[in-house]
Amino acid sequence: MSRQMRSLQSESPLTELNGVGPALAKKLEKLNLHRVDDLLFLLPLRYEDRTQLVKIGSLVAGKRCLVSGEVLLAETAFRGRRNLLVRISDGSGQLTLRFFHFSRQQQAQFRAGLEVTCFGEVRRGKNGFEIIHPEYRLLRENQSAEMSDSLTAIYPATEGVQQGRLRSLTDQALRRMQESPPQELLPAAVREKLEMPTLAEAIQYLHRPPPDADIEQMLTGTHPCQQRLAFEELLAHYLSLSNLRALAATEDALALTEGNEDVSGFVRDLPFELTAAQRRVTDDILADLAQPHPMMRLIQGDVGSGKTVVAAIACVKALACGVQAAIMAPTEILAEQHWRSFSDWFRPLGIEPAWLSGSQRAAARRESLASIADGSAQLIVGTHALFQEGVAFKRLGLVVIDEQHRFGVHQRMALRDKGVSIDGHPHQLVMTATPIPRTLAMAAYADLDTSVIDELPPGRQPVSTIAIPEIRRGEVVERVRSACASGQQAYWVCPLIEESEVLDYQAAQASYEMLTEALPELRIGLVHGRMKPAEKERGMKAFKEGLIQLLVATTVIEVGVDVPNASLMIIENAERMGLSQLHQLRGRVGRGAVQSHCVLLYKSPLGRTAKQRLGVLRDTNDGFVVAQKDLELRGPGELLGTRQTGLPDYRIANLVRDAELMPQVQITAEIIRKDSEHRAAAIVRRWLGDAGRYGKV
Ligand code: ADP
Ligand code: MG
Repeated sequence: MSRQMRSLQSESPLTELNGVGPALAKKLEKLNLHRVDDLLFLLPLRYEDRTQLVKIGSLVAGKRCLVSGEVLLAETAFRGRRNLLVRISDGSGQLTLRFFHFSRQQQAQFRAGLEVTCFGEVRRGKNGFEIIHPEYRLLRENQSAEMSDSLTAIYPATEGVQQGRLRSLTDQALRRMQESPPQELLPAAVREKLEMPTLAEAIQYLHRPPPDADIEQMLTGTHPCQQRLAFEELLAHYLSLSNLRALAATEDALALTEGNEDVSGFVRDLPFELTAAQRRVTDDILADLAQPHPMMRLIQGDVGSGKTVVAAIACVKALACGVQAAIMAPTEILAEQHWRSFSDWFRPLGIEPAWLSGSQRAAARRESLASIADGSAQLIVGTHALFQEGVAFKRLGLVVIDEQHRFGVHQRMALRDKGVSIDGHPHQLVMTATPIPRTLAMAAYADLDTSVIDELPPGRQPVSTIAIPEIRRGEVVERVRSACASGQQAYWVCPLIEESEVLDYQAAQASYEMLTEALPELRIGLVHGRMKPAEKERGMKAFKEGLIQLLVATTVIEVGVDVPNASLMIIENAERMGLSQLHQLRGRVGRGAVQSHCVLLYKSPLGRTAKQRLGVLRDTNDGFVVAQKDLELRGPGELLGTRQTGLPDYRIANLVRDAELMPQVQITAEIIRKDSEHRAAAIVRRWLGDAGRYGKV
């Protein structure tokens, strides 16, 4: 959570509360609590029920209960170590309180006949139920057991701050809230329609739930009061992101209206027919480009759905209108591949794409930079190097970013601003091969318009996937032998070793040696991340041209590489990889007309999630289904590529759990924005503060 996240109306510092000095305030900062009202948003992790006494006769093992009874006897026993055992009864049964650490006075306290109230987790012991180290209180004569009038909140712990302290602080914050409730920012009509409580009601309820509250529901985060807060938080983020889109609509861009014949000629001359989905998405893009405001469009499409050619069509349009188009890919290999595809497609038009990458020699780079600057380079393909210092475009009209999941919102913004010229901002097209569930896309990409290519080119057969323990590696090697013997090509992807290119490389090298020995008749190549780009390029090229039959590689081939004749993919240590990554890798095969296979080699025994992951891949080829499962198994950060997602951390909302709120969030955002810009701004400010905002309101 961002440290600057300040929230609410009451900006009073915590030190205004009773019992908070500078030392405690410092500890509370660790829980991201800076202001009094931040306490209101520190929601309990769980609740304990101390609102009623449970009869000993109806105790259930595993539950934490409040029990009261008369002390029958207290004795010490020796079971490996000294125990104090206190037996109590409430008439319905007997219960043992067991202490491992106790003082002599404590022991003496428990006189037979006294009433004791205790709280703790009930376990099944040798002689019936027991509670180990309960919280307890001995009652004086005529005093009766004290019960809470609300469920007891258990807050996230931080070192040196006791639960009791957090409870007393939240008590104070709640009292202040009663005196001056936070402004209700959801319109009443929306709250009524969605049957949501007010913000103040929800906060009060979640901190001090009444005895009859549905604890199960609260533990799963699905209680209407929790949903109320999650909703407003999602709304704040959505408003903030979509402000960016609204902003784009007020900015200038060159309307690309010329060149319809060039586009239809280009499409006609392609070696294949566009799919209906490609045509639909192309239409979306061409309509955007014709606007005098910068396009901000995301294309989602499963691996192999043919996103590149759609981007190429957008480039044809840009070039026909006399502006430059730049295509940026996240890795050299991918950029090189795009360069080749674009060369092939644009050659008939007499256009040679320029190349710019980080590893380029100085002279070549100077030449590229000069042609980019004087406009003789119309089409430019490259890596991040395209948007570094010192790159000046003559007249950049379109930016295409491939494999978008590696770029977060801040990077998207930076790119957009980079190309600003007299025409305004360049149009921006981003493409992601990690399809994400629609509701998550709404949250993550609210700054973009989205189009989905939901159809694969005809003739593709789903890749059949199997998981095999690595002790049966021999069989897999045989499989490679026979596939290659029949003229097909295969990938052998080596274990991913976190954070270490060296180890990655060694593992790939070892597999390469093993395979060369086992399969002497095959032409085998090796590609890994430590190779010079030119070497990598040579290896990939040889594979693409069929000179190499089996390509041993690290996960450098993860994204985008396209060799239709490859129909067998072996992935070693598949148990270590994430679902989306495996799906990406598998997407390297199944691009031609023959049936393709993917073999997931794993080290037994498989853990539970690893088993689930491999099972998902076996069962489906649909990237959207894979993404949904990945989301459930790992959470959105991992799915979108961790920290780089640009996805914020949420305080209360959870994108997996609360995804189904997104459609309503979207509708509500439109209503609020139309109704009152002021209210929209206040919601963003409450949850994101000033520092967390992406765009001006
Ligand atoms: P991705 O969406 O994964 O980036 P690519 O753009 O690399 O997919 O396309 C995968 C392959 O499919 C490429 O070889 C491309 O030329 C081919 N392709 C794209 N569109 C079609 C189509 N409509 N019909 C047949 N093949 C196509
Ligand atoms: Mg691609």
